[in-house]
Amino acid sequence: MIELSGLGKSFGDLEVLRGIDQQVERGEVVCVIGPSGSGKSTLLRCVNLLEEPSAGKVVVDGNELTDPDNDLDGSRRHIGMVFQQFNLFSHLSVLDNLTVAQRKVLGRGKEEAVRIAGENLERVGLSDKADAMPAQLSGGQQQRAGIARALAMNPKVMLFDEPTSALDPELVGDVLGVMRQLADEGMTMLVVTHEMQFAREVADRVLFMDGGGIVEQGKPADVIGNPKEERTRSFLARVL
Ligand code: ATP
Ligand code: MG
Repeated sequence: MIELSGLGKSFGDLEVLRGIDQQVERGEVVCVIGPSGSGKSTLLRCVNLLEEPSAGKVVVDGNELTDPDNDLDGSRRHIGMVFQQFNLFSHLSVLDNLTVAQRKVLGRGKEEAVRIAGENLERVGLSDKADAMPAQLSGGQQQRAGIARALAMNPKVMLFDEPTSALDPELVGDVLGVMRQLADEGMTMLVVTHEMQFAREVADRVLFMDGGGIVEQGKPADVIGNPKEERTRSFLARVL
């Protein structure tokens, strides 16, 4: 579903991604862990070309996004992204946040967009907040609304960049619960996270990044439970 080959990214002299080769299969949940500055966000942002790779290829669902002739807007429609900051439109109600891109980008009519918004608000447990403004929601509710907004676009892949790290601890569980449910439903997910328990329980595969490369990868029980590489061990010793 996601194929990265020889993916490189430099900012000036700083080489942030050093030739990453990865395949994420349909329905697979891959968690990316690693120290600050190791290139996790850059990797995720290269998958939908929010960041333009300096080298290599990105293919999502058979479309090569790095091909200059590719219809980038068309390809991005199938890739949902959720960031640490919630990025809801603050001047729009929750419902309007969920319908605006459906109507503008997918060309859905109002009735259909509202119906699909409602289904996705229900999916994240926010059916009663459709008419609220974002500022009236807790951080966890805002993040779940952000996930529902991405899902309303019927993505084939969801990218999450530390979706819970801006939340108060008591709000983290609800957001992780929604992500877990999505994983159970078979969504293909690439998740940058510091939530080791979530990675252990939900990920099919964990990637440990350091210095712009993937140092170790495998089943969570191996990478988190019994890491082979010294760099993975010292990272886990700091976060666990
Ligand atoms: P964190 O856990 O702190 O979020 P990360 O693993 O997500 O870290 P990245 O944000 O991918 O790390 O950054 C990797 C490196 O690239 C860092 O050294 C960062 O300073 C650098 N970097 C990221 N974006 C830019 C940019 N737009 N211009 C210059 N350097 C950048
Ligand atoms: Mg980051």
